[in-house]
Amino acid sequence: MQALRVEQVSKAFGGLLALARVSLEVAPGERRAVIGPNGAGKSTLFKVMAGELRPSQGRVFLQGREVSGMPQERVARLGLGRTFQRSNAFPELLVWENVALAQKAAQGQGAALGQRLKPEPGVQRVLEQVGLAERAHVVASQLSHGEKRQLEIAMALVQNPSVLLLDEPLAGLSGAERERIGELILGLDPRMTVLLVEHDLEYALRFAQRVTVLHYGQVIAEGEPEAIRQNPQVQEIYVGA
Ligand code: ADP
Ligand code: MG
Repeated sequence: MQALRVEQVSKAFGGLLALARVSLEVAPGERRAVIGPNGAGKSTLFKVMAGELRPSQGRVFLQGREVSGMPQERVARLGLGRTFQRSNAFPELLVWENVALAQKAAQGQGAALGQRLKPEPGVQRVLEQVGLAERAHVVASQLSHGEKRQLEIAMALVQNPSVLLLDEPLAGLSGAERERIGELILGLDPRMTVLLVEHDLEYALRFAQRVTVLHYGQVIAEGEPEAIRQNPQVQEIYVGA
């Protein structure tokens, strides 16, 4: 069974067709990059997969179960994790508290603010994994840009997703931060299925086992990184990018 299956998904915003009959299948444990120019529909595709947007047509399946039409909290609880471009963390809470809240949300206990949180071992483990253990007791708003991105990843990982969506996780980071978070992503648990949107073509090709290329809302190519690198249409799109 595929970890994720997108079947003939279209998404219209008024007269604009942001996704046009997109289909893709991602195997369990696969590393899949989704690339394409700005406006190609990459973020829209992730939002449709995650239940943030309803497809205009088509269906999405997570572990064989149809999730299209479900609210995003429910899709998340069924195992779809994601990071957000704008941080999802509560700036006034401590780093570990944010991770603990994300864990509770995944368990369907809601964000019970005011309720006393306990530092569970799972929280500590994830903070170590993303390299934030030493920053556990810092207020989230005090984190650097890169550390905030690490916290986002920790909040997704603590929910133990079977499929993780990362939409431009390296965007806007400095060289050292890119290096650190790039390595963190490459080192994620190989059993987890990971889909990555990334502007840096070299990084995307290094990360991926397979690559899907979107252009004007359509899949124009899919294949292994080397084949994608040599695809004339892809080269044309990426000239001057
Ligand atoms: P990408 O992530 O590949 O840069 P997006 O998925 O963000 O592209 O956008 C695809 C197209 O859909 C773009 O033309 C964008 O302007 C448009 N779009 C995205 N979200 C909305 C929205 N909420 N309302 C209207 N148009 C949108
Ligand atoms: Mg985008």
